[in-house]
Amino acid sequence: MSKRANTCSFCGRPESQIDFFITGIEGAQICNECAMQAADIVKENTLTVSRQSDLSKQEIPKPAEIKEYLDQYIIGQDEAKKHLSVAVYNHYKRLMQVQTDDDVEIEKSNIIMVGYTGTGKTLLARTIAKKLHVPFTIVDATVLTEAGYVGEDIESILTRLLQVADYNVKEAERGIVFIDEIDKIARKSDNPSITRDVSGEGVQQGLLKLLEGSVVNVPPQGGRKHPEQKMIAVNTQNILFICGGAFDGIEKKIAARLNTRAVGYDSVRANEDVDKNNLLQYIAPQDLKSFGLIPEIVGRLPVLTYLEPLDRDALRKILTEPKNSIIKQYVKLFKMDGIDLVFNNDVLDYIVDKAVEFKLGARGLRSITETIMMDKMYETPSKNIKKVTVTLSYAQSKLEKANVNRLKST
Ligand code: ADP
Repeated sequence: MSKRANTCSFCGRPESQIDFFITGIEGAQICNECAMQAADIVKENTLTVSRQSDLSKQEIPKPAEIKEYLDQYIIGQDEAKKHLSVAVYNHYKRLMQVQTDDDVEIEKSNIIMVGYTGTGKTLLARTIAKKLHVPFTIVDATVLTEAGYVGEDIESILTRLLQVADYNVKEAERGIVFIDEIDKIARKSDNPSITRDVSGEGVQQGLLKLLEGSVVNVPPQGGRKHPEQKMIAVNTQNILFICGGAFDGIEKKIAARLNTRAVGYDSVRANEDVDKNNLLQYIAPQDLKSFGLIPEIVGRLPVLTYLEPLDRDALRKILTEPKNSIIKQYVKLFKMDGIDLVFNNDVLDYIVDKAVEFKLGARGLRSITETIMMDKMYETPSKNIKKVTVTLSYAQSKLEKANVNRLKST
């Protein structure tokens, strides 16, 4: 190939208009800008291809591998981690199942995770999403309403999934949806015939259709459907749903069941030492029903797991141990300015003490640390220092000055 003057073989711009050329054989050359564009095209195509490629057996992480991965980011919660890992692994297998004549069809096992707020439900879902090769999205059940009410239609749950799958319906149809705050759509009364909470139950009926597996019309932009909008038909049969909720007060239902039933499964429990401080570990499907989920929904969420409340020890670990723990994040922020940041151990204990004292749980660890570090983050970049040590007296002075009520509301 012969090149005309000294120009880019792609865009034709002369040397004077670009920064540099990368030369090839026979006089061909590409300018830096075309090279960047070419790189973007390659990246985009590789992503699409890898997303669409069939899941081959090798690339499916085994349950133990998935759990190991979760362990790097989440402290404790072994039960929930195991259930999630197995469910995701089986989800992959389900997607790979070939039609055989043995008539055995693997059904999907949607999951429900129950645990106090701030114990890691969303974090688990987010973390597992990073390990997945299928589209994944998190939606909040509180915005859902029955058709005809203000809010979003149930089908909009799938809009987000379509969006992360770049509107590739086939891809979205094998994705995973995490529905947060599922407890907020529970019926307010245990007795449906007397005081019916119509809107809560209506939303549950709508959700049931999605969980069961059916073809639903999804508004491409989400929100409410309107007549002239073009809908996208999505089959939810292979979509895995993971639900999470705090179910505030469900312990009372569990306690009542454990104490009152004298027959069957529960009578075994009656003889055991029931750990009253952690009743969630005994959760059973009927407790979800007592709380106000309709039996059909409970039936469509066959994997029920719980998260442990976080004690002082767990909070202390959360502060420093996960791969992207709060303390590691601050150390990195300072490192970017060439500063070594060190927290004395008693400061870390102090942060945990305050999170416990203010009943802020794991979420409080960040707001407390942020309050302590604010002035240092403001001042140190302009100073010529190489090391910052946070001492207990410094941390105490900063937190005492802060408006504790503001922290409590975070
Ligand atoms: P939930 O969804 O249960 O209300 P989140 O998953 O949103 O709670 O947790 C809030 C924050 O608290 C997380 O972003 C994380 O920083 C921290 N956190 C909570 N539980 C854990 C845990 N088990 N391990 C590590 N960090 C945790």
